[in-house]
Amino acid sequence: MSQILYIVVPCYNEEAVLHETARRLKDKLRSLEEKKVISPESRVLFVNDGSKDKTWEIIAQLHREDPVFSGVNLSRNRGHQNALLAGLMTAKDRCDMAISMDADLQDDVDAVDAMVEEYRGGCDIVYGVRSSRKKDTFFKRFTAEGFYRLMNFLGAETVFNHADYRLMSKRALEGLARFREVNLFLRGIVPMIGYRTGTVTYERGERFAGESKYPLKKMLAFAMEGITSLSTKPIRYITGLGFLIFFVSLVMLVWSIIRWAGGDTVIGWASVICSVWAIGGLILLSLGVIGEYIGKIYLETKGRPRFLIKEVLDSHEEG
Ligand code: UDP
Ligand code: MG
Repeated sequence: MSQILYIVVPCYNEEAVLHETARRLKDKLRSLEEKKVISPESRVLFVNDGSKDKTWEIIAQLHREDPVFSGVNLSRNRGHQNALLAGLMTAKDRCDMAISMDADLQDDVDAVDAMVEEYRGGCDIVYGVRSSRKKDTFFKRFTAEGFYRLMNFLGAETVFNHADYRLMSKRALEGLARFREVNLFLRGIVPMIGYRTGTVTYERGERFAGESKYPLKKMLAFAMEGITSLSTKPIRYITGLGFLIFFVSLVMLVWSIIRWAGGDTVIGWASVICSVWAIGGLILLSLGVIGEYIGKIYLETKGRPRFLIKEVLDSHEEG
């Protein structure tokens, strides 16, 4: 029996690319259906993340014209990760496997074939991994690489050069549904699900149209989110740093006592000021890091919903 595939696409102000994305994804589904690899019940599921432009109108129109297109309309903008989650959770009860993909066609649509192939070979999660970052600016490449290295150093397992282009089986989606955290960083959570995984490499292109919704400020916030929601090592390092500084101060104390005993008092305004400022800075930094975690705890304990769905357009029954 052939399997139902849902391609989940979060969209925020994507009216410029939506028609082209829809056309390409539909062609992809049709070609896989012809090869009898997936069921004709497969769908492209667009999630409208509270767009301010005509994105939802376009999705609704696509759905009216062809039931291969489905849509989820969120109550407001909740960000990429939450929109993706909303789509995956909607797909979960209707599909056998779901592939998540950005709306801007940066992820090579043709990698879908290889992903489905891996799934049929028994994988529950298939990561799309970029073969290179040639098209990115030097800055983006540099910061992204630093980020992945830092994450792995901090003990959070992430797949190198993998964004949110991946296939998940129904079983993996059910696993994902049981991770209840409000501060969602899918890239870090998915590897924790386990099961058999595979990777498919692809060339990442440039945005087809429209502009990136991840300016530097958001990118930094996203990285911070990733680190603090996956690793508590920074707190441990602060403790280590405290010990280190305390040790250094003891050494300095002993040294100045020895000099004093030798009849020569250590003088120095500069050294005092510098250490006061250095330590003051470190204390503030440490408080800031700890504050980040406390903020996380605060938000997690409230357990607010991660998304609210206004409307679902899908020709499938749930179940
Ligand atoms: N996106 C979203 N909600 C947001 C911001 C972005 O659903 O608040 C979607 C966006 O429409 C796109 C995907 O997330 O499909 C990735 O965004 P983008 O391409 O702007 O990020 P980049 O590829 O530049 O990192
Ligand atoms: Mg993009």
